[in-house]
Amino acid sequence: MKILKSEMDKLFILGPCSAESLEQLLDTATAISAVCRNHDISQEHVIFRAGLWKPRTSPQSFEGVGSKGLSWLDEVRRSTGMRVATEVATAQHLRLCAEHRLDAVWIGARTTTNPFMVEELATKLAELATNDGWKPIVILKNPVSADINLWTGAVERLRRHGISNIILLHRGFSAIGQDELRNPPLWSNVLRMRRLMPEMKMLCDVSHIAGKRPPIPHIANQAMQLALDGLMIEVHHHPEQALSDADQQLSPAQLDTLLSQLIVPEQGHADRQLTEYRQTLDDIDSEIWQLIARRQQVARDIGDYKREHHLPVFQPDRLEQILQERLLWAKQHNLSEDTVRTIIEAIHNDSVRTQIE
Ligand code: PEP
Ligand code: MN
Repeated sequence: MKILKSEMDKLFILGPCSAESLEQLLDTATAISAVCRNHDISQEHVIFRAGLWKPRTSPQSFEGVGSKGLSWLDEVRRSTGMRVATEVATAQHLRLCAEHRLDAVWIGARTTTNPFMVEELATKLAELATNDGWKPIVILKNPVSADINLWTGAVERLRRHGISNIILLHRGFSAIGQDELRNPPLWSNVLRMRRLMPEMKMLCDVSHIAGKRPPIPHIANQAMQLALDGLMIEVHHHPEQALSDADQQLSPAQLDTLLSQLIVPEQGHADRQLTEYRQTLDDIDSEIWQLIARRQQVARDIGDYKREHHLPVFQPDRLEQILQERLLWAKQHNLSEDTVRTIIEAIHNDSVRTQIE
């Protein structure tokens, strides 16, 4: 069963992590083109990706073929009709991409992290738009750390230079310690970013989130459930031989399977049942706020009492006791320990705040 619909308004950025040879690009691009046709994904919904300048952690790793790959991308566009994109990190990269009129460029996670580099790119993009009339789509990945303000800051820098055709690309955030995924998605940050910049399109780079093949379909479906506007997926004609990110690239056949299993929920569909559920949630939330307000009043009274009796506001033993007891309740109700801890700490911090004010 085909779940993707031809009228679907999702954007797919597909292609290898790195350009390795003209033959690799053409083979991969031809296969991707066929898979997209098979799923009725029209050409205006696809951009072919291949990294030319690779920001590698170690200089021993394959660092990309550099500018000679630009003419290979020309060839991909000529022979398949797909739009083409690569990663840019310096003004010089942009100058070279402008000569080949690339359709899109993406700013990688390591670059978004650095405001000086974003400023350099924004300045050069503005100059190339004015002097050469080159206005590529600018795909802006999130910074490596979960610092949303760096991401919105990068958007503002681009906009300040008159660059407006920007698409956000969520690629997960560096894992702290051991995590099953290479860059955990921390979806709550994505929702925050959506609230901060609701007008922006946001795609999901499932490959760099996953770091390996098996979790990719699940992450792609999660991104669709959160109504993201499309996916970046690394695809290589022989993934196991890839010179970079071999573990996470899909073969064209695996891309085909992923698209068959992708469920794209329809937007704006709220039936009577859903409306009822939401009403119940609204009622529960209203009770929660009333209870919190009552709790606050008691905390304020305790504050007055402590002041009269010269007792300190913050008593670490008391917080520890509250936490342990509430976490036990959480367990009994099958609630997530992390969530309950966050809520209790927020409520307790707020009590302390009212008592010292
Ligand atoms: C890439 O897309 O190939 C890449 C280097 O990704 P990121 O900037 O997300 O690490
Ligand atoms: Mn990669």
